[in-house]
Amino acid sequence: MKSEKLRVKPGSKVSLADWDPSDTHGHAREEAELKLKENLQRIRELQEVLYAQREHALLIVLQAMDAGGKDGTIGKVMSGMNPLACYARAFKAPTQEELAHDFLWRIHRVVPQKGYIGIFNRSHYEDVLVVRVHNLVPEPVWSQRYEQINAFERLLTESGVTILKFYLHISKAEQKKRLEQRFHDKTKLWKVDLADIEERKKWNDYMAAYEDALSKCSTKWAPWRVIPADRKWFRNLAVSQVIVETLEGLKLEYPRPSFNPSQIAVD
Ligand code: ATP
Ligand code: MG
Repeated sequence: MKSEKLRVKPGSKVSLADWDPSDTHGHAREEAELKLKENLQRIRELQEVLYAQREHALLIVLQAMDAGGKDGTIGKVMSGMNPLACYARAFKAPTQEELAHDFLWRIHRVVPQKGYIGIFNRSHYEDVLVVRVHNLVPEPVWSQRYEQINAFERLLTESGVTILKFYLHISKAEQKKRLEQRFHDKTKLWKVDLADIEERKKWNDYMAAYEDALSKCSTKWAPWRVIPADRKWFRNLAVSQVIVETLEGLKLEYPRPSFNPSQIAVD
C-alpha cells in the first residue's frame, strides 16, 4: 500500500465524495490480515525502543462518525502494544469544569509524555465538529479554532510529540448497516445510543464540518489521513501501516549506557 495516498496534502481542499470509503488499495483480505499481524509485531518492537529511549511520544487521534470503527481500531491496533507504555483516552461531552477552561485544556493534560503512545478516541476536533454542527458556541468562536489547533499541534510536535490523525471514513450506507446490526446482536446492543440515530440526520452537516477540519488542519507537522473504513480489515491494515512507517521514520535507538558494560562485574 502506498500510505502516502491516504495523506491529505497540506493546503488542499478536501471533498470527501472523492475518497471512496470501500477502497482497498488493491489489497485482498487474507493477505491484508497477514500483513496486519506483521505490523502489530513490528509496532511492539518499535514501541519497546520508544519507551527505552524516552525522546519521542506518539499521539494517535481517531475521529469518525458514530459506528465508524474508532473502538474497533483501538482494540486491534493496540493489541500488539505493551500496556506499560501506552494508553487510550475517550473524549465525551465536556464537564462543567472542562467547559470553564479553554477547549484545549482537557486535551493538553493527557497528551502522552516522551516514551509513550497515547490514542485519542475523539479529540479536540470535536470542538470544530459536534460543536459546530450543533451551534454549541457562536461561529466566531469555533471558526478561530482551526488556527488554534494548528498552533497547539505545532507546539506539541516541536516538543517531541509525533501526531498521527486518522479520519475513519465510512459511507452513510455502511453506518446504517452497522447501527442496525447493533439492534440484532446481543453482544452489541449495549452500544446502541438512540442519539446516534438523531445525529445521522445531520450527516451532511458533519461531512461539511469534517471537510473543513481536514482541509484547514492538515499541516506539514500534523497531516490528516483519510482511512477508507467500510472494510474493517483494510482500515486496520492502513492504520497499522502508517504507525509502523512513522515509528520507523523516527530512527529510534536504544539509549547508550553511561558506563562501560564490559567493566561491570555482578557478584
Ligand atoms: P462513541 O460514540 O465514540 O463510541 P460513546 O458512545 O461511548 O463513544 P458518548 O457517550 O456518545 O460516547 O460520548 C461521546 C459524545 O460526546 C459524542 O456525541 C461527542 O460528539 C460528544 N463530545 C465529545 N467532545 C465534545 C465536545 N467538545 N463538545 C460537545 N460534545 C462533545
Ligand atoms: Mg456515542
